[in-house]
Amino acid sequence: MYGAIESRFAEAVKSGNLIFTQTTQIPAKYNGVDVIYTLAPALAKKPGKAEVEKNSSDPAQASPWLPPQEDLVIEKQDKYTVVLNKFAVAKYHFLLVTNEFEKQTKPLSPGDLRAAFDLLKKANSESGKRHVGFYNSGTNSGASIPHRHVQFLTLPDSFVPFPDQTPHARKANMPASDTRVPFAHFIAHLDNTDDEELLADKYMLALSRAITTCARHQVPLSYNLVFTEQWMMATPRCQDKVNDISINSLGTIGLILAKSDEQLKYVEKHGLGLLEELGFANVPEPEGATEIDDGYIKY
Ligand code: AMP
Repeated sequence: MYGAIESRFAEAVKSGNLIFTQTTQIPAKYNGVDVIYTLAPALAKKPGKAEVEKNSSDPAQASPWLPPQEDLVIEKQDKYTVVLNKFAVAKYHFLLVTNEFEKQTKPLSPGDLRAAFDLLKKANSESGKRHVGFYNSGTNSGASIPHRHVQFLTLPDSFVPFPDQTPHARKANMPASDTRVPFAHFIAHLDNTDDEELLADKYMLALSRAITTCARHQVPLSYNLVFTEQWMMATPRCQDKVNDISINSLGTIGLILAKSDEQLKYVEKHGLGLLEELGFANVPEPEGATEIDDGYIKY
């Protein structure tokens, strides 16, 4: 499959059916955490959420995958199709889309998770490179297309996403959070979980805290989900952009995109602090938590 991703990508760029935007990457650190700021000045050409919505009042009609563009298709499965991103900022950015219209605002089903994890593992083993999967869900998540899609990207060489270093939660039924990061996020370590039901449980562990965070702040549910073979992380959101800088799931692991020098300056100044503005402050312990003598939190 990965060979098809590489060859289709090259063909589609050559034929002009895939628009590949050249970028400049600026690796940096935010409070000890790896981040990469990417400058992509040509990105303004890509249709944004407003344009997709304007094109049709029926979300199913606004889907670019009913049917998908044939020369971007990598693999057709029973319920899903693997397609290349038509507007790629990174090489080999691909997506898993449902064959029937399903809403992006709904949670991933256990079957969606199974298919997404299988695809992630296949991409990792066939390419020898590590990938992340991600799902932008809800109006404040940075999503632009209402048809359900999980996206996949190769992690930049030697980039360490911060959840790799986040200590496990003290209790198995609680998500972990990293104290170096200023925004609320909930990490479920996978511990080699591969069973469909267990994957769904891990997803719910992270997602349920995103749901309660949005509910507590009385905003509609929006969140970013990022996953690797080792962990899943959900980040609740209350806004999709600041200073015209739209941030999606990739921003939550420190991969932040700027469309101009001015935006880049803003991103470099605020770093992961942007996510606190677009989401919520990192306050790991829920209300009602009390300190006990040995410093552990009791719930
Ligand atoms: P999101 O913005 O998170 O909803 O993700 C939608 C993704 O689909 C974006 O990365 C777009 O670049 C990509 N996309 C938009 N139109 C197409 C298309 N016709 N074929 C494939 N991918 C597309």
